[in-house]
Amino acid sequence: YRAKEHGNTFRLYDPSMDTKAYERMVLETDLRKALEREEFVLWYQPQINLATMRIKGVEALVRWNHPELGLVPPNKFIPLAEETGLIVPLGEWVLRTACQTNKRWQERGLQKLRMGVNLSMRQFRRDDLSDTVASVLAETGLDPADLELEITESMTMDLEQSLLTLQKLKGLGIQIGIDDFGTGYSSLSYLKKFPIDRLKIDRSFVSDIGADENDSAIVNTILLMAHSLHLKVTAEGVETEAQKEYLKSHGCDDAQGYLFSRPLPEGEIEQLLRAEQVGV
Ligand code: C2E
Ligand code: MG
Ligand code: MG
Ligand code: MG
Repeated sequence: YRAKEHGNTFRLYDPSMDTKAYERMVLETDLRKALEREEFVLWYQPQINLATMRIKGVEALVRWNHPELGLVPPNKFIPLAEETGLIVPLGEWVLRTACQTNKRWQERGLQKLRMGVNLSMRQFRRDDLSDTVASVLAETGLDPADLELEITESMTMDLEQSLLTLQKLKGLGIQIGIDDFGTGYSSLSYLKKFPIDRLKIDRSFVSDIGADENDSAIVNTILLMAHSLHLKVTAEGVETEAQKEYLKSHGCDDAQGYLFSRPLPEGEIEQLLRAEQVGV
């Protein structure tokens, strides 16, 4: 065995461990300290209103600035954070930071934006979620209407409990969106019962939009259903002009994807917003 020095801790390195298992062990150990070491950072991806082609909102996406591994994407550590419970304090940090940033942009004279924040299952199931959201709103002074919490269908399996949680959250005046819509296995009946505002079409369906009419069937169906339930729709993962045009002509409200912008650090978003203001 060889001990690998990292900060004040020593790890036993077992050469028989494969790289993946080793990486996971490193991440798991370091994750606990990452919050107090302020290694997390939020990037923001613009959401474009397809009717006006202007930035209507952004989604906050967390990254981990690891001292050795560099910028670690969320799919590498969010599941770990879920397992270990660290997602609760991390999620609260994400919420507070995103709300602070949105408020700061507004104070600097930039347009009012909707700030999307992802929630995890563990956060959604906590009794004190709405208290936490309420205190973050009070602390940051952000207009509740400018916050949109994103949950996924799989979190809402317990319909009764989810309804109660969502009602409490809606009572604060915030917006609720269903993320990755269409990929969960939940029944659709919740859509008319839940106090939600928006569906975000999963990018797997958006990437299907193509020459063949059948490829767009699911997107069309989601748009029709959402609008008849008076829900707004955001398309995720828009990468081509053809997808954008299709979505626009079929009445999709907003779109997010590499075609418009990748997620960007706070300062670069601010520049984008300023450029957009000058352009008007
Ligand atoms: P999500 O909430 O569905 O976020 C959208 C993801 O799609 C982001 O990946 C974004 O960078 C990516 N994306 C956006 N446009 C395109 C595109 O045109 N093409 C492709 N291929 N991808 C695109 P990211 O930032 O790696 O985040 C992955 C997931 O991690 C998120 O999916 C979300 O489920 C989770 N996540 C991110 N930040 C947080 C957070 O603060 N809390 C929690 N609980 N989960 C988070
Ligand atoms: Mg999301
Ligand atoms: Mg999504
Ligand atoms: Mg997702």
